[in-house]
Amino acid sequence: MLIAGNWKMFKGPDETAPFCHALRNADLPEDVDVVVCPPFVSLAPAVQALAGTEVGVFAQNCHWADEGAFTGEVSASMLKELGVYGTLVGHSERRQYFGETDKTVGRRVEAALAAGLDVIACIGETEAEREAGETEAVLRRQLAVLPQDDDLVVAYEPVWAIGTGKTATPEMAQEAHALIKSVLDVPVLYGGSVKPENAADLFAQGHVDGALVGGASLDLESFLAICRTRS
Ligand code: PEP
Repeated sequence: MLIAGNWKMFKGPDETAPFCHALRNADLPEDVDVVVCPPFVSLAPAVQALAGTEVGVFAQNCHWADEGAFTGEVSASMLKELGVYGTLVGHSERRQYFGETDKTVGRRVEAALAAGLDVIACIGETEAEREAGETEAVLRRQLAVLPQDDDLVVAYEPVWAIGTGKTATPEMAQEAHALIKSVLDVPVLYGGSVKPENAADLFAQGHVDGALVGGASLDLESFLAICRTRS
């Protein structure tokens, strides 16, 4: 089981250090891999506070070039240099608001893996796509740019469930995860309004290998409750 907390654009360095120190001192189940994904400016204090622990620090994005004239971007090798363990790529908020495409997602994933970062690649359909019966086609298109790789994890995050309080039913998650696993032999996380109250039902699905948690990962107690959830 892997539980990753996506902090989005929350928690600057001042908030990150005490949060990560508290996480460091918390009782975490040994059979659960725990990851936090702070904003870029908070990566260094997170790496520092969690040094020597099993908690992984991931970025929320990385560029495909090693360096260059790409204002506002950060490369995989820079993240490695900082002691970051992995990165999210292709989060739906990047696709929705920042012009991320399947092609750029593929390039970012490839560069991150080549630099030795673990990657959680996010895919998922919009509400309109699900209602139009296009979920399978969308997921297959988004998966087509991802390589089979031991350091790759896919997060299935239906866009209509992110930050909305609407969660896919455990059966919907299971069906989508089975499709993903028929294309790539990788762990698959579910993401979309995961909370302590709904985590057990989701984790009870055989194809759900963990969760990518947004809002509920910002509060230490609710994040820990999800990490400690048993199906
Ligand atoms: C996310 O940011 O990936 C996410 C799933 O957010 P939330 O849990 O808030 O829906």
